[in-house]
Parts: sequence; structure tokens; C-alpha cells
Amino acid sequence: MKIKLKLVILGNVPIEFKTKTLIKWKSELFDVEKTIDKYSINYNSDSKDWEYSDQNIENQLPDNFNGDILFAITNVPLQDNYYSRRLSNNRICITFCDMAKLLKNENIPIENLILRLLYAYSFAYLSHNKNLPTSIEFRSFTHDETKGCLFDMNGIKEEVIFSTNNPIICNSCIEKLKVSKVPENLIQKSQNEIKKINKILYYRIFDFIKQYPLLSLLLSAIFAIALGIIGSLIASFIWEKL
Ligand SMILES: [Zn+2]
Repeated sequence: MKIKLKLVILGNVPIEFKTKTLIKWKSELFDVEKTIDKYSINYNSDSKDWEYSDQNIENQLPDNFNGDILFAITNVPLQDNYYSRRLSNNRICITFCDMAKLLKNENIPIENLILRLLYAYSFAYLSHNKNLPTSIEFRSFTHDETKGCLFDMNGIKEEVIFSTNNPIICNSCIEKLKVSKVPENLIQKSQNEIKKINKILYYRIFDFIKQYPLLSLLLSAIFAIALGIIGSLIASFIWEKL
């Protein structure tokens, strides 16, 4: 049975954030509840550097919700400068603070960050007997090395760009999931699904040209010649018919 995810928005989020992308996302691992509720932030920051502690965020979220995991999406800084925190009662808070700017600089849709984390936490939920440990409990299922994997820790926040555009599940994480009795077919299906977490077509082409400038030039030259040939063939066909 698919995991039911409930998404809520806590306070203001960047104007370009498209909830539709998340609601319409098709996955064999989870279903996203169609209604995204909005909650206002009613308390001020209670930690250093204007951070909101886990307790503070928890106090502002519903205890009961329709789903297995609740994801609260916000824009305020979170405890210890993390971009996501695991709270009690299978609740997660994700912030766009710092992250939106990093992603936009690389032309990565900001929804990709949320999608990546929906997959990562859904797998963590399955591999922890449907009970996510809180961030305080410190049981980490991430790795410090940046591999472009769903389970990258991203201690250096800038490196989030590697796991929000064509992310993977690295071999060691696949093995860990298998050991935790996550069905292999679900891992395989998710590997295919996360290939769609990428940039829009325009920027994919742009990246290709940047990476292979000579090949791009050659391809465009071939394309131009082919267009010319097709054009003259059409012209001679019309001429003959007339
Ligand atoms: Zn990994």
C-alpha cells in the first residue's frame, strides 16, 4: 500500500513555488493528498540567528493529520541551520530559507527539493518500521559524502544542487534499504521515477550545449544542412506537380 503524504504550508513561501507539481506527481511509493492546508506562523523565532527550534515548529503544526507523514513547507530558518528537520509524530519540516536562492541560481525548480525529500523520507519511514526518528534522536540515514543521492546530507548546503537535478539512489543506500526490508521492486520503480526530477527542457538543452560545445555546433550544422535538403526536395516536388 502506498504511503499517504500530507503537505501543509507554514507561513509564507517563495512566490514561484508551484504546489501543483507535487499534487500531480505520480509515484508507486507514495500518494500526495490533494489538499494542501495553510497555517500561519504565530510565534517568533526562539533560537540564535533567528532560527525556529523544533519545539517551536511543532507547536505550530497540527498533531493529527490525514496521512502517514506530514510535510510542513516553510521559509523560516530551522534549528541548527538545517534545511529539513524530523519532528515528533512522523512530521517533517522543510525550509526554502537559503535553499531557494541556491536552486534558482542553477535554474533548478525549487519543487525538486521537496520531491527529493518526499522520496528520501518515505523510504526512511518504510525502513524504520513506519516510525520516523526525530532529528534529536540522531539516527541518521544520510551520508556526508555528496553523491547526488536522495540521502546526501548536504552539510555544505551549496551541494544540494547535485541531488535536486537527476538524483540517484547510490549503491550503498540501495543495499541499506534492502537490508531494512524495503521491497526491491519499489526501489527499482522509484529509481525510474526520480529521473524525472530535473530541470525544464530549455535548461537541459542549455546545459548540454555548455558541456559539449563542439558537438552542439556540429549537430546544429547537420540540422541546418538537413533542413536545406528537405526544403529543396519540397520545392522540387511542388514544381513538378505544378
Ligand atoms: Zn546514498
